[in-house]
Amino acid sequence: MNFRFFPWTQPTNYGHLFLGLDTQVPLAAGGSVPGINFDNGATTPPFLSVLEEINRFAPLYGSVHRGAGYKSVVSSQIYEQARTEVLRFVGGDPRSDTVIFVKNTTEALNKLANRFQNKNKKEVILTTWMEHHSNLLPWRERFDVDYIEIDEQGRLRMDDLRAKLERYQGAVKLVTVTGASNVTGHRNPIHKIAELSHRYGARICVDGAQLVPHASVDMRPSHSIEHIDFLAFSAHKMYAPFGTGVLIGPRAFFDQGAPDYQGGGTAQMVTPDRVLWYDAPAKEEAGTPNLMGVVALVAAIRTLSAIGMKKVLQHEEGLLGYAYERLRWMEGITFYGGIPLNQQQLSQRIGVISFNVEGLFHEDVAEYLAKEGGISVRNGCFCAQPYVQRLLHISRQEMERHIANPSLPHPGMVRVSLALYNTKEEIDIFLDVLGRIAGSRL
Ligand code: PLP
Repeated sequence: MNFRFFPWTQPTNYGHLFLGLDTQVPLAAGGSVPGINFDNGATTPPFLSVLEEINRFAPLYGSVHRGAGYKSVVSSQIYEQARTEVLRFVGGDPRSDTVIFVKNTTEALNKLANRFQNKNKKEVILTTWMEHHSNLLPWRERFDVDYIEIDEQGRLRMDDLRAKLERYQGAVKLVTVTGASNVTGHRNPIHKIAELSHRYGARICVDGAQLVPHASVDMRPSHSIEHIDFLAFSAHKMYAPFGTGVLIGPRAFFDQGAPDYQGGGTAQMVTPDRVLWYDAPAKEEAGTPNLMGVVALVAAIRTLSAIGMKKVLQHEEGLLGYAYERLRWMEGITFYGGIPLNQQQLSQRIGVISFNVEGLFHEDVAEYLAKEGGISVRNGCFCAQPYVQRLLHISRQEMERHIANPSLPHPGMVRVSLALYNTKEEIDIFLDVLGRIAGSRL
């Protein structure tokens, strides 16, 4: 069979940038094989350069903004400099944007939701049916929320965004969308969404958890109407460790009002009955900052920048195209999000493939892949249950049944999510193992 549906250039091997990719994992039949990690949507292993940078920095370890001693001063400088590097990586504007370090994307989006005080009850937040719970629950707990519709393949419907902006006649305060879906890999046209939102007086927030690690992001493109107001992402999905997230937005926005978390580092002056807050970003970072995590994030950003985000995207697109070219012929598999049919469609995806095998429960497929091939994938709903329910055509009544009885087996899918270090050979092994249960070998 000729697998030339998408242009395929010989991939660069990025494996040398990581440690432990050849770690042996046991198989059910006995023996072991080097594990294959196709669960990068959940988290990615740290770059070797990140681990080295943590070691290099360790002798300077000190508390940020908490002292006049040498280590504290150097630590504070490194921490502040990190904001500039993070902002440059995503094309933010150092004059107007501020970088707030948080724990992860979830905390960033909750913080933003907290800071959008709903003083005017008529205001609406628009989100979409394709969001991760982290970009759904913080909003719907606090605001009147409406959802932009998706099409049959799970892509955002721009016509519905326009219709909703029109219907709410300026009442939409914020449109908050994922940059790329962790379920189908669909990338949203964030700059078109920004342009439309701004025309109707709304701001835009992009959940960049799945976009920032895989494609270059430009918050301030040349057409200013297309700019991204708020961006959130997590270090642990971009080859740095857990515990560091980023929220970027206009400094003036965060300068207003009181911070959501309050305590050490947020206030310049405190009397028994008064408080004078610092300006952003300090005001938004209560407690001693996670400097080690920020050092690691910057090291990851430097490595990604040295490779070039274009090459990162190209590599993952190449793998995705290769996988789909072969998967599309396999019988007994249902794909969610549609199969990309040409290069242009492929370029609107990140490296995520979600599917089910006919007649098999998603969890059994994931276990089979792990036990027979040492392949790690994720199964379930990937913290995006409303989206998965729609893609699986599960009715609200049926979900009521599950809510009434949470121990019922939960509907879901199997997800492969690719990263920089994955290879064509790993995809071949995956296809071979999957073929054994899907009933048709390639
Ligand atoms: N948004 C999307 C699209 C995600 O895929 C995830 C995690 O999988 C999150 C938000 C939440 O990220 P975190 O768990 O790092 O807060």
